[in-house]
Parts: sequence; C-alpha cells; structure tokens
Amino acid sequence: ARTPRKVLITGGAGFIGSNFVHHWCAAYPQDRVVVLDALTYAGNRRNLAGLETSVNKLRFVQGDICDRLLVDALLQAGAIDTIVHFAAESHVDRSILEPDAFIRTNIVGTFTLLEAFHQYWKANQKPIDYRFLHISTDEVYGSLEPNDPAFTETTPFAPNSPYSASKAGSDHLVRAYYHTYGLPTLITNCSNNYGPYHFPEKLIPLICINILMGKPLPVYGDGQNIRDWLFVADHCRALDAVIHQGKLGETYNIGGNNEVKNIDLVHMLCDLMEELAPELPVRPCRRLITFVKDRPGHDRRYAIDATKITTELGWTPRETIASGLRQTVQWYLAHPDWWQPLLSSQYQTYYQRVYTSV
Ligand code: NAD
Repeated sequence: ARTPRKVLITGGAGFIGSNFVHHWCAAYPQDRVVVLDALTYAGNRRNLAGLETSVNKLRFVQGDICDRLLVDALLQAGAIDTIVHFAAESHVDRSILEPDAFIRTNIVGTFTLLEAFHQYWKANQKPIDYRFLHISTDEVYGSLEPNDPAFTETTPFAPNSPYSASKAGSDHLVRAYYHTYGLPTLITNCSNNYGPYHFPEKLIPLICINILMGKPLPVYGDGQNIRDWLFVADHCRALDAVIHQGKLGETYNIGGNNEVKNIDLVHMLCDLMEELAPELPVRPCRRLITFVKDRPGHDRRYAIDATKITTELGWTPRETIASGLRQTVQWYLAHPDWWQPLLSSQYQTYYQRVYTSV
C-alpha cells in the first residue's frame, strides 16, 4: 500500500497550484496537505473552496516563501516529506513592467525553500522518501523558429524575458542543490497551461471574458506566435507521475502536443463562444479582434518534446485543444461569480498599461 505523504504546496491558491490541490486531495485522501500562499493579486482563497472542510486535512497558511522562519516552522510542524513548489510571479507582461517581484519570489523565494528544506532534510535523515518538485516553464529554453525541433530536457537555456530569466535562475538553483548536496529534487518544465481558475489577464480567459463584455480582443503583433497548450488537469496528472515515479535529480518536459498560432486560438474561442454562450453583445465575435503593438522580446514559438515523460513514466495528455478549450469555455460561462470580482480597478489599470493601443 502507498504510504501517505505530508505535502507542502507553495502557490496552491494560484491557477495551476489550486488545480493540483484539488487533484491531490481527491486522489490521496489519506495525505496531509499544507498550502503556503502569499495571496498576491494572482492568489485566490476561493480557488480552494470546499477543500478545507473535506476529508483531507488541508491546512491553508497565508505567507511568503521568502520568509525563512515561517518555512522552517511549517516543515517541522507538518513533518513534511514532499514539497510541490508552484509559488511564483508568473505573468510575462508584468515582468516587463515591474521585474523586481519576479527576482525576489522566483529566485530568492526558491532559494529560501531549497535551503530550508536542505537543513531540515539533513537534520531528519530517516528512511523517508523525501521529494522537492520544482515547477517551471518551457520559456527557459527561449524561442524556436518554425522548423526547429521541439525543446527537449537537454536544450540549452536561453531565456528572453525577466520572467523566464528568473525561472531559469531558480531551475539552476534546484539542479545545483541536487548535485552539490544530494537534495532529492525533481524539475518539470511545461508549456502554456489553460483551464479552470485561470486569472483573467492570461490569453484564454481574457478572450472569453472580453467576448462576453463585447470588448476588443487584443492580439499581439501579427498573431502568428505559436504556443503549445496543455490542459491543466493533464498537467496535474503528469506532476503526480513525476512525484511518485520520477527519478531524483531529473528534469521532465511536459507538453500537450497542441501547437497553435495565437490567432487560430482566438478564432477557435470565438467559434466556441458563439456556440455555447446564449447571448453575446457582438456577433460574429471575430469583429472584435484587434491587433496591438507586439510585446517586447516576444518569443515566436515554443514547443515541447514530451517523449521522456511518456516513455519513462507512461504519461500522455488526454485532452486535445478542441476538447480542453470546450471544457474551459464552459467553466468560464458557468462561473461569472468567480471571475467578475477579479476585474478590479487595479486590474483595469494594469490592463491599460499593457494594451496601450487597444
Ligand atoms: P499564478 O500566478 O496563477 O499563481 C502563483 C501563486 O503563487 C499565487 O497564488 C500567488 O499568490 C503565489 N505567490 C506569489 N508570490 C508568492 C510568494 N512570495 N510567497 C508565496 N506565494 C506566492 O501562477 P500559475 O500559472 O499557477 O503558475 C504556477 C507555476 O507554474 C509557476 O511557477 C509558473 O512559473 C509555472 N508555469 C506556469 C505556466 C502557465 O501556463 N500558467 C506554464 C509553465 C510554468
């Protein structure tokens, strides 16, 4: 039988983190789960609604991963054996406007967790299956030309934004803690996620919400940038496989095998919204598409080669872009009570700064 784990999940009130907490609590009701999240603009306690009263012994702690004393106390008090590290500043556009928080949380915060876990692990060398999983991005590998092969785990790092540079720095630190101290670490680099609980600033929810409000649909540059889309539930299953079966010290790429041009994605969303939404202020939705000044340093293409996790751990994505987008659109249509309160005046100020020409 599987030994129950005591898991610390950082950033568990964010988009992927909260989906993962839901996945984990359903799959492993015997485990103890502590969520550590600072509740920045991107963190939302409501993403975890219902879980704290469930059979799981979920505990939510509002706090900062840079707070070493707090992290030490949580590791000790929870007798933690598994850290799943999502907490980060995650939005490229914000990293261009204000990079400071990215360096602090993504680099200093990851270092703080690693060092706290290192000291705790050294002091508690028991026959326990310790694990530290660091969640990272394919953006650390830089940008691809249309005919380049997809990123593998050995593609050299070439980050182009303050966000991806900060994530690359954190990936290097995790790697170094394995090689220098033997800390039981694992790294995953995944492509663009989408699905429920995705903050409105990100492309897919932004397009859905703007269609519902009859607002322009901003598309950067010529719309030809290519992303590989991964449905968040597929991602959570991949992380589960890495935690249980991954080889310590290794990196696993996770992708959805769904390369799509941004403009094609927006067209798919327009079609789905017209099919699924009962009333829309503007039809056809494509009339709302507005090309805006490109993001500085905008990477042209990302693509993940997920052969390693498929062959070694037996994981493959279940959703296609069509099936995943349909579920996502249905979720946003059913949950205006979730996303409406997030469109605060602070959010509008940010929005104006990014899409100056809309
Ligand atoms: P998110 O922005 O939705 O959530 C981040 C969470 O971290 C929030 O709940 C926030 O409150 C919390 N947080 C931020 N700073 C913190 C701090 N100093 N201390 C404690 N908590 C803090 O991000 P996401 O999209 O869920 O991404 C999760 C992880 O996955 C990140 O590490 C990100 O780099 C990585 N990733 C995301 C994607 C994607 O498509 N969303 C793709 C590849 C990798």
